[in-house]
Amino acid sequence: MNKRYIVALDQGTTSSRAVVFTPEGSIVSSAALEFKQHYPQPGWVEHDPDDILSTQVESLRAAVRRAGISPSEIAAVGITNQRETTILWEKDGGRPVHRAIVWQCRRTADYVDRLKAAGHTDAIRAKTGLVPDAYFSGTKLQWLLDKLDLRERARRGELCFGTVDSFLAWHLVKGHPHVTDATNAGRTMLFNLSTQQWDEELLRMMDIPREVLPTVVDTARIIGMLDEDVLGAPIPVASLVGDQHAALFGQACIQTGMTKNTYGTGCFMLMNIGSEFRLSEAGLLTTMAWRLDGKPTYAFEGSVFMGGATIQWLRDEMKLIATAADSEPMARSVPTSGDCYLVPAFTGLGAPYWDMYARGTLVGMTRGTGAAHIVRAALESIAYQSADLLEAMGRDAGCRPPALRVDGGASANGFLMQFQADIMDLPINRPAVLETTALGAALLAGLAAGVYPDVESTARGWHVDSVFEPQMAPQDREKAVAGWRRAVRAALCWAGEK
Ligand code: ADP
Repeated sequence: MNKRYIVALDQGTTSSRAVVFTPEGSIVSSAALEFKQHYPQPGWVEHDPDDILSTQVESLRAAVRRAGISPSEIAAVGITNQRETTILWEKDGGRPVHRAIVWQCRRTADYVDRLKAAGHTDAIRAKTGLVPDAYFSGTKLQWLLDKLDLRERARRGELCFGTVDSFLAWHLVKGHPHVTDATNAGRTMLFNLSTQQWDEELLRMMDIPREVLPTVVDTARIIGMLDEDVLGAPIPVASLVGDQHAALFGQACIQTGMTKNTYGTGCFMLMNIGSEFRLSEAGLLTTMAWRLDGKPTYAFEGSVFMGGATIQWLRDEMKLIATAADSEPMARSVPTSGDCYLVPAFTGLGAPYWDMYARGTLVGMTRGTGAAHIVRAALESIAYQSADLLEAMGRDAGCRPPALRVDGGASANGFLMQFQADIMDLPINRPAVLETTALGAALLAGLAAGVYPDVESTARGWHVDSVFEPQMAPQDREKAVAGWRRAVRAALCWAGEK
């Protein structure tokens, strides 16, 4: 029987999804299951690894059932995942020793403070491309080894550490390979992006025994066969890839300079910067784009904390709209924001401002300012923040992308996308398949399994649906951006004066 389909497992923070694709990149079917979030203390977030595993297997079975295909028609399975989330399990039997510590969890903030106080910031940055933070896996693993008193067992090789890709691969692939890919390894704060090895000095800093770590493999590579218990057929599992990296590949950003922005709760922008590891001057992260045939491709990564979340705030706190989609007609109901600017620095401002104390600011209101102006200013703020990121990236990378490729929930907003094109003075390309994370994992798996002969062929799975061309006059853009800069100064000023 013909192997006509590729399946992506997309293990996210709130749900596990599975998507069946054709080799041309069209979706045949999908299924998703949510699972429980655990908040044992303020600032702590955990998942039950058994929930992750069972929802992932069930959604895979449901998607294949819905597609009405036989498992023997599946050429490959790819796995993409929430990044940095940390799991430790017993090599004998696979039982997790603790719940997964989720990327959002702040429990190791004091571990990170100690690393910084000991003067390790520059070394960590130079080796990993990351700014030391509790977000990354290293200190989460250190916490587990400390608090559960497991370092000796880890040293004896009785335990396996992994991010979610690694945990799924161990459980779903025949023979229990203990592996992770370079994109996921790159988010642990233990992996040297230049040497592509676990780094001895970083392991010492966080007191991590090497025996506990997975083998780091290429992003597209057959790591083994799906256990027959899962679908009843042995299918190659052929990619492991962190979600943002998968989206970059799914957006076919395969050449240097190509950039994607995901407009979700926050916005995640990644720019492909090619085969040379570089640090950003603007405080952006350097991360793996992917590693293929042993050759790394790097990316700059920046995020906007309040993206679609700004629209949730309009809906849930300000009660200015009933649904997120209502923001579009409301913004269009006024010709401009009336010189009103919202800086949604509710949790501080990230790159390129890096001010954790900045706070939300609404400036420029007059007696005539109405709800529609504020809604419009909120949507515009997502575009301004993304434009700031792109400018910083372009400066650091020494290039500007030919266009910005977009996805994520808020990319459905046509007003926002047009304003984004106007403010960046760059075409915005929204693809037909917005499930770029799943698509990226599927394309990478197809590449490893020989469905595609080369990387360029995978890019044929990307099709543009809507193009937003910049239309704003240059002097209007300059005036608008200058107003945004002044508004940001007001937000920073509020933070500065105690
Ligand atoms: P996540 O993966 O972070 O949960 P999604 O990609 O599902 O995010 O996008 C959801 C976000 O997009 C929400 O914050 C929501 O407010 C925003 N959003 C959804 N639809 C629209 C829209 N039409 N206009 C503006 N924002 C939207």
